[in-house]
Amino acid sequence: MQFGLSTKLIGYVMAGVLITSAAIGVVRVQNERGPLGEMIDKAGQSVANATASGAASLVAGYDYGNLEILAQNVAKQNNVIRVVIRNQSGRAMAQSGQTDAGSDKNYKRFNSPILFDGQAIGATSVDISTDAMESALNALYWRVLVEQIAFGTVLGLIVYLFTSFGIVSPIHNLTTAMEEAVKQGDSFIVRDLEVKSRDEIGRLVSVFNTLNKSLADYHRQLQGKIDFANEELREKNIQLGGRTRELEHALDLLGAMATTDWLTELPNRRKFDETLSRMFHQSERFAEDITLVLFDIDLFKQVNDTHGHGAGDEVLRDIGTLLRLHVRKSDLPARLGGDEFGIVLYHTNIEQATMFVDILTESVRAHPFNYDGFRMNISLSVGIAQYTEAMKTPQELYYAADKALYQAKNAGRNCYRVYADAIPQLQERITS
Ligand code: GH3
Ligand code: MG
Repeated sequence: MQFGLSTKLIGYVMAGVLITSAAIGVVRVQNERGPLGEMIDKAGQSVANATASGAASLVAGYDYGNLEILAQNVAKQNNVIRVVIRNQSGRAMAQSGQTDAGSDKNYKRFNSPILFDGQAIGATSVDISTDAMESALNALYWRVLVEQIAFGTVLGLIVYLFTSFGIVSPIHNLTTAMEEAVKQGDSFIVRDLEVKSRDEIGRLVSVFNTLNKSLADYHRQLQGKIDFANEELREKNIQLGGRTRELEHALDLLGAMATTDWLTELPNRRKFDETLSRMFHQSERFAEDITLVLFDIDLFKQVNDTHGHGAGDEVLRDIGTLLRLHVRKSDLPARLGGDEFGIVLYHTNIEQATMFVDILTESVRAHPFNYDGFRMNISLSVGIAQYTEAMKTPQELYYAADKALYQAKNAGRNCYRVYADAIPQLQERITS
């Protein structure tokens, strides 16, 4: 259990009061015991002397009857508990009061010789009880104790109040202020504490305020530096973010450039090979139809030769646009190089592929290829091949389509050919 400073203070004060009060009580009782004892001694001795002088003639005359009466009368007096009258030889001639002397310890015995004509003829002994004195001293002890405790308590309270206001309260305020700061997680206390005195406590509070102030200044400076550093960091992050975005953009562009044909903006040969390979294996695993269409512009050299390279580029771009227009999202059109293009048609068989080729060639035919006011006639030769289980690599599918394209060229151009091994009945079909 934890006791506060105030509780401890009260404990110490009360313990001091109790010990001091008990000691004072003991000293007072000892001081009183002496005079009271003397009073009892005087009174007892005078009773013994008076009894001896009263008994002198009665002892001399062996008057046992009156000696008995004398003893009884003396024994009746206050605090006299026993009276014994003895003759010269020590024999008791009369006695009164309690006979069992040993059982009563709180008494004093007073002896007096019995003199007759200057001769000792006997002695009297009177036992006087000291109980009254003891009980009076006892009562005195308790009264002193209670008085001292009451006095000590009042004094203790006064001391406590002064100490409490002068020491405990300022220390309490100091501790509370520090605890608040710790709770808030701050490294300094915002408000100053009031300096109420110029003593040690006052100086402690004053030093605390000074420390508090310098800590606060330091904290502010530090916070300023942290804010400044944060701001710089934020700006750098923004710059870095910008650069990162630029870099990401450049990387995206680079990625796109690596897989895009710069002239037609169609996927290039690399992208085509990748996709063909992926689709080929997919088709192999899930028995899905894929068909590859390759085409080459007929007599393209002549276009270049007649109208210039720029015209040739224009034609290539237009073919790219037409191709993009007619493919589905799942298909992959690509420029494979020079005037050769390829399309991987997903979920497509030969029938559907020839329909697509018909539409494409028709749109090429219908397209006005004009350059510098000259009309150019553009036609395509097309090779078509569908994936078959006999094909083990994507290249085999490619060679099949290329073979069909070669056949189309050989057949006089401006037509398509289907790879013979795949669907023979579609062979020989020529676009008009
Ligand atoms: P064929 O019908 O047999 O295909 O005859 P062709 O004249 O088209 O012959 P080929 O396909 O072999 O020739 C392709 C030509 O395409 C050769 C080259 O000068 C031209 N060419 C290749 N790349 C480009 C290009 O990027 N721009 C232009 N304008 N011409 C190109
Ligand atoms: Mg050509």
